[in-house]
Amino acid sequence: MKLAIILTNDWELFGNGSGDYFENQKTPLIELLKPINYHGFKFTVFAEVIQQLNLFQQSSENLNSDGIAKDWEDTIKNLLFEGHDIQLHIHPQLIQKSSGYSKEFSIANLESDEMFDVICSCKNYLESVLKEQNANYECIVFRAGGYAIQPSENVINNLFSAGIRSDSSVTNGLISSFFNFKHSYSSYLPWFCSTDIRKKNIAESSILEVPIFSVSRIDIPILRVKFPELYYLLFHSVRLTKEEIQWINQTKKAKKHATYSIKEKYRAQASRSILKLLFYKLIQPYSLQYDYDKIPARVLIKYLEKKWKVINNLDDASLEKFSNCYIPVVLIGHAKDHYSNYNIDLFLSLLKSEFQGNCESLTYSGFYNHYISNLKEYELLDENLYFNKLLK
Ligand SMILES: [Zn+2]
Repeated sequence: MKLAIILTNDWELFGNGSGDYFENQKTPLIELLKPINYHGFKFTVFAEVIQQLNLFQQSSENLNSDGIAKDWEDTIKNLLFEGHDIQLHIHPQLIQKSSGYSKEFSIANLESDEMFDVICSCKNYLESVLKEQNANYECIVFRAGGYAIQPSENVINNLFSAGIRSDSSVTNGLISSFFNFKHSYSSYLPWFCSTDIRKKNIAESSILEVPIFSVSRIDIPILRVKFPELYYLLFHSVRLTKEEIQWINQTKKAKKHATYSIKEKYRAQASRSILKLLFYKLIQPYSLQYDYDKIPARVLIKYLEKKWKVINNLDDASLEKFSNCYIPVVLIGHAKDHYSNYNIDLFLSLLKSEFQGNCESLTYSGFYNHYISNLKEYELLDENLYFNKLLK
């Protein structure tokens, strides 16, 4: 058994459509690829396709729409050529209506026919571009914009009908006004789902949910944001170095941009009652999502080592049965929030030195294909981890 490190990135401009393609999307991605290629890791980019389709609709010489659209296509083709993976990401708020942007943040709230059409046109476009590079390319994985995929039954049905076979929108325990991933089946192990994205349910039209890796912690958000040094020491027993503090200060730049309407909405709701506000600002359960643009590398490594140790404590006889299986570790980041390679570089170096032969880098599709080809072993592993209460 090995860890499968699946580095993913949601590749897009800001949630309200603002931002400069070259400055906020292309350049940070190319920067990010330097340590990833240097350390020999694979990368999976969830490319937001609506913004790209909009460029064709509003073709304008002044805005260099054609130049940007062409560069976007060349960039993802190059990624595929280098052995990386590109899959589908959709932000429905960017859909153009006669009155402007649709402002519908959740794909789950689209009418079923429109939802199916949007998924198909985005998937078909991605495939038409990437098949020019590699005739075997297939778009089979989805991640919902803002993770907003609930209520999920209709979305799963439409994804399946469109030929999508896997999703990676869930982070166990994470909640906002657009989603509630509390009590998801696992915080790392995949499950087939057909109605509720959080629940294991094997049916003919099931898709495979591979969640973003997370661990449950207690958190004081205000301390985390204002006094990270104290926060990581008290809550994670990690003493930050000067370089790490410098990196955290660089990540704060990201917050200055007009970005996540979802968070704004959540805050607006929270401030309606003093109690909710206190709950939001003070101590609360927290799902530490494996985001290499936000969480210091040594914290990510620390909990990964803990998880690995616990899983390897299963008795030897059962470990033997799963020797061919991977434990997937899906990480997330956003090129638009990426201001320094310090953390990802440290994370990849530490992975190699701490886990040595016990971890391997896979693309999302690479892991999916391995899972489907070794379904029996993975089912046994799932049963064993479930029985030992090790899924969370
Ligand atoms: Zn996104």
